[in-house]
Order: sequence, then structure tokens, then C-alpha cells
Amino acid sequence: MSLSVKNCNICPRHCNINRNYNNGFCNEQNTIKIAKIIKNFKWEEPCLSDKKGVLAIFFSGCNLRCDYCQNHEISRGQIGKNYSINEFINLIEKEQLDCDAIDLITPTHFSKNLIEAFKKINKKVPVIWNTSSYETTQNIENINNFVDIYLADLKYSNNELGQKFSQCLDYFSYALPAIKKMCELKQDKFDNEIMKQGVIIRHLVLPNYIQNSLNVLDVIKKEFANRKISIMSQFTPNGKSILNRKLNSIEYKTVIRHMEKINLDNGYIQDFESANESFIPKFI
Ligand code: SF4
Repeated sequence: MSLSVKNCNICPRHCNINRNYNNGFCNEQNTIKIAKIIKNFKWEEPCLSDKKGVLAIFFSGCNLRCDYCQNHEISRGQIGKNYSINEFINLIEKEQLDCDAIDLITPTHFSKNLIEAFKKINKKVPVIWNTSSYETTQNIENINNFVDIYLADLKYSNNELGQKFSQCLDYFSYALPAIKKMCELKQDKFDNEIMKQGVIIRHLVLPNYIQNSLNVLDVIKKEFANRKISIMSQFTPNGKSILNRKLNSIEYKTVIRHMEKINLDNGYIQDFESANESFIPKFI
């Protein structure tokens, strides 16, 4: 069974198209499409996984189009396998028993399907909503019943960089209220230092755009100072972007020093070496 999605306005793109027949900006129709599943994935932030690792589900397509995307084939919806809602329910019910959490990666454009699926799933472990944060507050309210943890990017501190890199005129205008809504809906809860509910705000530092990162940190300090943050150094050039080199250590140190200067110390800093081993991030 697929879900009928007419007049899709799930995300801020507001394509308003009938996804039973057409692809939206996210390049997906009405059926859940998964590009990759990694069981026992251990490379998310340490508080998200105890021993087994998470069940990482990489959805095909994306409602952003970042030219530096590290997962181009996946985000452009070029690869993937279709799952009916029942097939997705079976997948989760079977695999959740062997993981610490279910990690839904770039799931926004399949929100309606996932809401239907999780109404029937007998959830045993937390569900992570791993998002670019280009979301409407309405969608966050809609999915909040089955989501336990928001792993939310804050990519840019203004709309201009979204326009430059992500084909998006209003990234910051939507991401800030979306993250505020996530924080309003989920207080942080831990069991032996493992997060069971809450919000982690992530930021990937981009080469040549250090001022953006400093400004993002200032926004986090002002708006979300008591929430966990995660600063990532793993940027890897994909050969398609003007961002054609890795981060250098001086740039990364500048960002980390600013964190220290403004007393943002509740969270994780990815080891700088991760810039040389993408997809094997270390957090300290
Ligand atoms: S989810 Fe896809 S089709 Fe729907 S509004 Fe967003 S980009 Fe458009």
C-alpha cells in the first residue's frame, strides 16, 4: 500500500503537486524510497547509541539541493528501493530489536507515509528524526507523536547562503522556528548518558565560510544555549561544488575557539581528523 499524497505541502517548498503522479522538488512520489540501510551504525553522536549502534535508514531524495552534498546519488533520488507502508512496518519491527535507536535520515518528504507507518509500529527503541531542519513547524507538530529525538542541522545563519549553496531562498527563515518548535516539544531525557528523548543541533563547518559558522554558534548561544550541540569537521569535496577543498585546521580551530569564547560546551566536537575520513566521524 502506498499513501495518496495530493497537493503536497509537507515542507517549505510548497510544491502543491499531486505526488501520486508527479515528483516534487524532493524528486520523490508517494511511495517510501530507501537508498541505503546500515544496521548497527555507530557513527552518530555518542549519546545516541549504547552498544548496538543505530539502524540508519537513508531515504532517497531531499527537499534541499546542496551542491556540496556528500550523498549526491541518494539526495537527488537517483537510487533506492520502494517500500510499501506495510513493508516499511515489517522492516522496522524486525530490525529494531537489534539496534539502540531508529535513525531516519532525511525523512521529511516522506512524513505522511511515516506518520501512517508508526501508528502501527510497536516501537521498542527511540526514533531519531535526522533532518536538514528545512521544515515547517506544522510538520514538526505532525510527526512529533512518534519521534523521540531531533537531530537537527543548522546549516546557515542567514538566507543568502541557502540561496548560494542549497537552491533555497528561505533556509534560515524556516530552520530557526522549526528547531525552536522541536525544543518546545522535546525536553532532553537521558538514561545512563544515553539520550532517550531530546534535541541535538548539528552544524557542519564549510571551508571558506568560517564567519557563517561563528554566526551559527552565536544563534545557538542566543536561542538554544541549554541544548546539546554537535560541530562537525568532516566536509569532503564532491567535485561538483565551488567548495572544492577540505577544511583546514586553522579554520576549524577558529570555530572551536569561538565556541569556547562564548561558553558553548554542552555537546560534541568532531575530531579534526574526520575531515580525512568522511563517514567515519569521531566525536570528542
Ligand atoms: S515534500 Fe517534496 S513535493 Fe512536498 S512540498 Fe516538499 S519538496 Fe515539494
